[in-house]
Amino acid sequence: MKRAKGLRLAALALGGAVLLSGCVTRTEPSVSTQIFVMDTIMSLELWEGGSQEQLNQAVEQLYQWEDLWSATDEDSEIWAADHSGGEWVTLSGDTVDLLSQALDLCRLTGGALDLTAYSAVKAWGFTTGEYRVPGEEELAALADGIDHTQVELDRDACRVRLPAGMELDLGAVAKGYAGARLAEQLREQGVTSALLNLGGNVQTVGGKPDGSPWSVGVQDPASEQVDNLLAIQVVDQAVVTSGSYQRYFQQDGQTYWHILDPETAAPARTGLASVTVVGPDGTVCDGLATALFVLGEEAGIELWRAHPELGVQVIWVREDGSVALTEGLEENYQVNPQHRGLDMTVVEA
Ligand code: AMP
Ligand code: MG
Repeated sequence: MKRAKGLRLAALALGGAVLLSGCVTRTEPSVSTQIFVMDTIMSLELWEGGSQEQLNQAVEQLYQWEDLWSATDEDSEIWAADHSGGEWVTLSGDTVDLLSQALDLCRLTGGALDLTAYSAVKAWGFTTGEYRVPGEEELAALADGIDHTQVELDRDACRVRLPAGMELDLGAVAKGYAGARLAEQLREQGVTSALLNLGGNVQTVGGKPDGSPWSVGVQDPASEQVDNLLAIQVVDQAVVTSGSYQRYFQQDGQTYWHILDPETAAPARTGLASVTVVGPDGTVCDGLATALFVLGEEAGIELWRAHPELGVQVIWVREDGSVALTEGLEENYQVNPQHRGLDMTVVEA
């Protein structure tokens, strides 16, 4: 699926319009824009040290990554890898970098994150909106076909090979990686304060212009509107949520969502409604949020305790609306007054 170039220019023009109409004060970003890319709405706000040119570069970079990583665009590198019939496919440096980090996360999470779940994601209709519930036999065959250990990544030669028929997608990690890379680029360019919201994957650069932390909301999964359960304070961190409410369909009184358990090829049901991961590396936060949703709370806490080197904190929102949150966030959150009395447990390391 190729996007018209005009749309990109319109997005850039929108950025310009915001700049021209908004006065540059401490209550507004100096430049900002909203675009539709990677199947989601993204908003980019540069608050301190940012220029329109840097914003335009970030936007163009996002479109380029979309062109490389879309699993449905026949010109993308991921499409080529998924349709190579078991042959090696050459990749660009950015794709190798993302794939390499993502495969590390597949291993670290014991396959709860598994990029090769894509055939199953397609079978449920999550890529087209033509939803269906596959039968037991079909699910068993799909689950058999999910195995990230079969992906051969040759970093030196910049190429990848999947067994014929296996398909991967980067939907569980690409936005987090994009946020991390853009943040790094903006910091190098002298931006000291920015807020990037890549479709719910929030990436901050520095704090607010006055030096105070950004406040990032964690949505109430049970609410139809955007209603935050709580907000956390962060500086220079990513805040990424995976939730059953983000993409789902209902059939015969059951709800089916887009995060699949690689062991069953069916939606992961562990009593969680969402998992939010906060940390310094957006790719890790994105991959882990998906994996921790699949693992459920108990196994997720174990994984979190076993990997202090990742430097992440986690918020689990259960289907009954109660919350568990790791101790590193204890001093950094406020419950939304509308949710006063929220049932909250602190998880110790
Ligand atoms: P996220 O919103 O980051 O949790 O990613 C969810 C997306 O990743 C889904 O829409 C699928 O395309 C894909 N996906 C679903 N389940 C998994 C899984 N267990 N491992 C990796 N990718 C998955
Ligand atoms: Mg994810």
